[in-house]
Amino acid sequence: MRKKIVVGNWKMNKSFDEGLKLIDEIVKELASQPADNVLKIIAPSFLHLAAASQKLKSLKGFETAAQNCHHIANGAYTGEIAAAMIASTGADYVIIGHSERRLYFGENNALLAQKVNIALANNLTPIFCLGENLEERNAKQHLEAVKQQLKEGLYHLTAADFSRLIIAYEPVWAIGTGVTASIHQAQGMHNYIRSEINKKYGKDISSIIPILYGGSCNAQNAKELFACIDVDGGLIGGASLKAVDFAAIINSFSE
Ligand code: PEP
Repeated sequence: MRKKIVVGNWKMNKSFDEGLKLIDEIVKELASQPADNVLKIIAPSFLHLAAASQKLKSLKGFETAAQNCHHIANGAYTGEIAAAMIASTGADYVIIGHSERRLYFGENNALLAQKVNIALANNLTPIFCLGENLEERNAKQHLEAVKQQLKEGLYHLTAADFSRLIIAYEPVWAIGTGVTASIHQAQGMHNYIRSEINKKYGKDISSIIPILYGGSCNAQNAKELFACIDVDGGLIGGASLKAVDFAAIINSFSE
């Protein structure tokens, strides 16, 4: 039985006080419906990370994630944050390879492979994002595109290290657009990813890797997405900024 997981990616939003208030609201919202079977991971900005980790560490079922990390251990890299620094805040997870990092910051698979390595070396669980863009989907190249991201970003890992990952399938055309992948598209790609992992690492590993869906997932569509057999939860952007919506998404798994 794989873990059910919902991750809230706040991106570049919320002042310090607003962020801490949102955490309190999420905790309050979930008090009456705690969804104990769901791992809830909040990925605020670096600004909030230490305080958010402190706030959530005593609460069962909550974890925190950074939205990115640098690929080098430490040093003269002004404005960057190292994996060890993230781990020192109490966060146990880090998002790597979000499409906004790939698109706006030129992060390619080779660089992301290094980020995965340094995250694992610091006992952070990478939440590794992959997904095709619209052109690739329209040209029916989406399976190839995702396979290449898997191969170049992750297939250097040993089986033991690969088994520590969470994968998030995020079709780029669905992120922040209000267009969600259909159940058929989401389940189809999740099943494909799992079967590719099976080919490379075998069934024992492919059957335990959580694969999350991300891309305009909200309180209305989460239930049917999470009901797909290979969808183990969601990576949520916009809807994670509203406590009521985020809590409703967390409570969208059918038993
Ligand atoms: C994301 O940024 O990972 C994401 C899925 O965003 P949204 O939910 O807003 O589409």
